[in-house]
Amino acid sequence: MKSMHSIDIDTVEMTLDIMKYAINRISNTSAELGKPKKEEELYKLVGETITKDGLGGEKAFQLFKDVLVKATVPVDHPRHLAFVPAAPTKAAVLFDLVTSASSIHGAYWMTGAGGIFCENQAMKWLVELTGLPEGAFGVFTSGGTSANLSAMIAAREAWRDKKEENKKLKALLITSNGAHSSIKSMARVIDADIILVDDDAEDKLTGFWLEKAIANLSEFDRKRLFAVVATGGTTNAGIIDDLESIAAVCEKEDLWFHVDAAYGGGALAAPSVRHLFNGIEKADSVTIDPHKWMFSPYDSGAVIYKNLELARNAHSQKGAYLDIFKDEGAQGFNPADYQIQLTRRLKGLPLWFSLAMHGTDKYTEAIETGLKLAQDTSALIAEKEYVELVREPSLSCVLFRRKGWTPEDYRDWTYKNHTEGIALVTPTKWTKDDKQETVARFCFINPDTKLTDVDNILETMR
Ligand SMILES: *Cc1c(COP(=O)(O)O)cnc(C)c1O
Repeated sequence: MKSMHSIDIDTVEMTLDIMKYAINRISNTSAELGKPKKEEELYKLVGETITKDGLGGEKAFQLFKDVLVKATVPVDHPRHLAFVPAAPTKAAVLFDLVTSASSIHGAYWMTGAGGIFCENQAMKWLVELTGLPEGAFGVFTSGGTSANLSAMIAAREAWRDKKEENKKLKALLITSNGAHSSIKSMARVIDADIILVDDDAEDKLTGFWLEKAIANLSEFDRKRLFAVVATGGTTNAGIIDDLESIAAVCEKEDLWFHVDAAYGGGALAAPSVRHLFNGIEKADSVTIDPHKWMFSPYDSGAVIYKNLELARNAHSQKGAYLDIFKDEGAQGFNPADYQIQLTRRLKGLPLWFSLAMHGTDKYTEAIETGLKLAQDTSALIAEKEYVELVREPSLSCVLFRRKGWTPEDYRDWTYKNHTEGIALVTPTKWTKDDKQETVARFCFINPDTKLTDVDNILETMR
């Protein structure tokens, strides 16, 4: 009997089929805006796919191509402006295929050297963008959540190692109301308490408000406080906290300073807004998601540390069968030592290839395009009497209201546009002076989105 690892005529045909699909998909910039179906409905259409004898490659792939993939929403669609969309470059997507085909174990230098070398080249550029001092470096992770978790663990361990009594305390961290849900969620994972500080009149966390929050802590809570998490571009509105003044407070109070720039990090490469991130160079750790605004396919995050040693103390895994990887013959950078995962795909390889092919200037250009689209959209909104800005755009996020609409109107409009294949734009909530309002939101990542796309979407609100 043929084994499933052997090459025969069926495998060759399947390979050609799959390559053809991949080529078509990445060259098709006007892919349909797919939409989900109920599970029962999908089951009715494709039936049972896992059988004792197998369906055969042709049949299984046909079900995927003709039915299942159409029940997904392509994040790179130019009129997908909800959540934080994505727009991986063709180079990055193709290199994701190469990453799979190359079967590289990315935990240790011993097995992954050449691939980790590539990742580290891309990482060097990310670190340069932050302006962190000599010695700072990082690793690619599965996304912002695991990057944030890895940083928070490093911070907590460093704090515990400072003082014997800290080992017995439940850790406490401070962040802002605008922080991403993963911060709250990962605080639960590390069993830390969390305090959410209000933003100032400009909706930012500042050193002033942080200092006030620290002054209000009980003596016991002050002992438990180990870190501050600021945001470099909130997911909801693109707001960048006042990193400079927050850094000063963290330094004075001897607290770990983490900057979550999962979404906004791409804008570090954009000269027009780079100054808004001043202070990020003083961070102890930074999160950036290449799969958001650095045009990498899912999934790819990155965590950068000022002091790698502290990260290694927290994350390096010990095991009898792992010692060989740290042996002399394998001297080199071991990504497993700096984040939560052991076995690891080379999550930074697609970014590396795309950067190596295109150069960093093209990244700057593509990111500036999203920023400009947000500004142009703001001007377009000002021309239409039935809509108005909720606040000036920050980074590539535009919050606006359709005058007179209720939350139900926004919901119905979202579904209608999605069903008709016009666009995926979802509402969000915005809170100001304790008043919460449902509003509409655009997030621009894709440089192929045109102002005419935006205009057409705004016209559907008339
Ligand atoms: C998206 C995002 C995250 C979570 O990142 P994932 O890659 O989805 O895990 C964390 N923080 C911010 C600010 C984000 O925008």
